[in-house]
Amino acid sequence: MEWETTRERMMKLLSEASTPLSARDIALELGLDSERAVYEELKHVAKSIRRSGKRLYIQPAYCRKCGYVFKDAQIKRPSKCPRCKSQWIEPPRFIIR
Ligand SMILES: [Zn+2]
Repeated sequence: MEWETTRERMMKLLSEASTPLSARDIALELGLDSERAVYEELKHVAKSIRRSGKRLYIQPAYCRKCGYVFKDAQIKRPSKCPRCKSQWIEPPRFIIR
């Protein structure tokens, strides 16, 4: 079996995904313990794939209470909504194309 790093497995998973995945989806799929680790690795993935002419697309996080969409599509999970202060946040999702 070919040995692959977490980063390579993450790139493959996101390239083959049919819909964007959350950090939780990625952690479950790759057997990682923390979503924080996924976000850290995703930052490296975003840089690495530029060489291959692909891009990491980010579906921004949004507030499930008031619908506020976080404008900066960042590789992290916002803790609360700046508009209504709710912590019921739908996290960002990622896909490579
Ligand atoms: Zn809100």
